[in-house]
Amino acid sequence: MLIDHRTAVVAIVAAVTCLGLASCTAASAQDDATPSTSGSSGPPRAADGVLPDHTSAYDTDLPGIAKLDPTLRKAVQQAETAMQDDGITMQVTTGWRSKKYQEELLDKAIRKYGSKKKALEYVAEPDASHHVTGHAVDIGPTNADDWLSRHGNRYGLCQTLTNEIWHFELVTKPGEDCPPMTDPAKS
Ligand SMILES: [Zn+2]
Repeated sequence: MLIDHRTAVVAIVAAVTCLGLASCTAASAQDDATPSTSGSSGPPRAADGVLPDHTSAYDTDLPGIAKLDPTLRKAVQQAETAMQDDGITMQVTTGWRSKKYQEELLDKAIRKYGSKKKALEYVAEPDASHHVTGHAVDIGPTNADDWLSRHGNRYGLCQTLTNEIWHFELVTKPGEDCPPMTDPAKS
């Protein structure tokens, strides 16, 4: 009991100390629940926007949530609360992503799909990704996506890509209709 309490205090102090300190990224990654084996040049980490399972839009201590456009983040938080009232627990699977993380995702997709052209139907260029600018969120699980595609426009949130039912952006005024989606295969 005592030890648990002290651990919690240390974690809170670390999280608070993190705000505004570039050097805190390594420390906060080590504080993650998932054990980290990575060194400084390992796979993308929390500092690149990697989010743990069950991340809420209210988890603003995580860079992937903290670096979202504040207006988008607020809309997603409102939707999360409304959804919770309907018995659906939403999670943010991706929010903001670093350029480095986006580049790695694109490289991976090129290897998977065999060409950059095909890969770009699924993963945007680092300079084009709305995740890198903090203007997009990926939401799960499927029942949350379903809820958002029906009611997200109340908060200005819309699915914007035909092939990604989980990808939402702030592209309409609250209460207004969503604009037509983009088909990445045709662009
Ligand atoms: Zn997305």
